Amino acid sequence: MKLTPVDEIVTLSGGRLACGDKETICRGLSFDSRTCEPGDVFVALVAERDGHDFISTALGRGAVACLVSRDDVVDEISEAGAAAVLVDDTLEALHRWAAGYRKLLNPTVIAVTGSNGKTSTKDLIRSVLGERFVVGATRGNFNNHIGLPASILGLSGRESHAVLEIGMNHAGEIAPLAKIAAPDISVVTNIGVAHIEFLGSREAIAEEKGELVTALDGDGVAVINANDDFADTLAFRCDGQVVRAGIDRGDVRAENLKPLGARTEFDLVSPDGERRSVSMPIPGRHMVGNAVLAAAVGFTCGLTMDEVVAGIESVALTSGRLGADDADGVVVIDDSYNANPDSMIAALDVLATWPGAKRRFAALGAMGELGEFSDSGHQSVGAHAASLDLDGLVVVGDGAQKIVEAASGAAFPVEFFPSIDAAADALRAFAYQPGDVVLVKGSRSSRMEALIEPIRA
Ligand code: ATP
Ligand code: MG
Repeated sequence: MKLTPVDEIVTLSGGRLACGDKETICRGLSFDSRTCEPGDVFVALVAERDGHDFISTALGRGAVACLVSRDDVVDEISEAGAAAVLVDDTLEALHRWAAGYRKLLNPTVIAVTGSNGKTSTKDLIRSVLGERFVVGATRGNFNNHIGLPASILGLSGRESHAVLEIGMNHAGEIAPLAKIAAPDISVVTNIGVAHIEFLGSREAIAEEKGELVTALDGDGVAVINANDDFADTLAFRCDGQVVRAGIDRGDVRAENLKPLGARTEFDLVSPDGERRSVSMPIPGRHMVGNAVLAAAVGFTCGLTMDEVVAGIESVALTSGRLGADDADGVVVIDDSYNANPDSMIAALDVLATWPGAKRRFAALGAMGELGEFSDSGHQSVGAHAASLDLDGLVVVGDGAQKIVEAASGAAFPVEFFPSIDAAADALRAFAYQPGDVVLVKGSRSSRMEALIEPIRA
């Protein structure tokens, strides 16, 4: 956050100064009293726990102002010599403040949504634009009704560009966040089946993600995945310009893909038809799809081919997303961060095309939030795994049995473990050899990252 006087918070949040000095300068923003730092404004959000109950901790740690909706805490804030900004609802006030702060700083905003690959695409865009501009971006996966405003308020004011990830679980969540972000460029990575439990169908998901495109004004640019079968539906909703980016098709495209283990090579083609070979330090065809979206954003912002290529070639992804690590000749592909059927199948393809692998193993956990699509989702993953040339499949946890059933005809052994601990014991005892490649993947709730260490051991 830039150095912000309390007065500005009062104005932008639509609150009133209940105590303290309006010229007090705030240096940062905190929602968690335990990590509050001297000079912060503490925002008392009301969720499972009420942030107002932790105000004394925040003040003790040096908060100089508090954004609150309960007037019974004002005396305590006043006694500590801090300022209190009183509002009706702290979350709504946070949203108003972030929307106002975005307008005040006025960077070029690139907002990213989609079913899969938001964080990876955000990281790629940041890397590409960073070749020329000062770029701010969502930290990690901070993409929801709290993370988005926090990401905006995290901007220092020095950035010319901000890359913001916008996520959703339920219908109606994108539109208000899109309004706060007020994107100049909207990127929709794809329309898949993530969170389908709460939305019911891919059409409904397309409708929801399309809110980010609708939020553009006539000068805006929508960057759309040319390989997605909902591309036209999304383009139709755009008042501004549409740039399509994809593999083998689109205004910006990747051709001649070569999977080279931890790297992927491809030819990048610009909207002018300029062509350049790229060596991306990430595996996976789907990641090439994310890279061309980032390239399209780069070209839209006026970058040269050299800059775009340099940005893709130097990208570092947020951890747990297809990072490959070599332990004594055994490659562990850590994609444990999260999973849905699309990303599982994409990761299995990375494993299956890993060059030079002597043996290929996958350890897959259950996938959550699929609702009535849970059985079919797990089955499609199992059937896909069975169609690949693997050497073993380990399936872990309740809910994942359908993967085992669907993979039962496979030419390699398929083993089921009811718990992560049982799987960890078995994998620790397994004799991995140099040349083995092991993919680890599952939903956040399946805690598959707990298998990485036993495999490396
Ligand atoms: P979340 O909804 O949890 O924020 P996300 O959309 O930000 O997820 P990432 O964190 O980039 O997505 O990637 C999550 C998983 O999806 C990883 O396993 C990654 O390999 C995979 N993935 C990334 N891009 C794609 C894609 N275009 N298609 C399918 N899977 C993808
Ligand atoms: Mg994400």
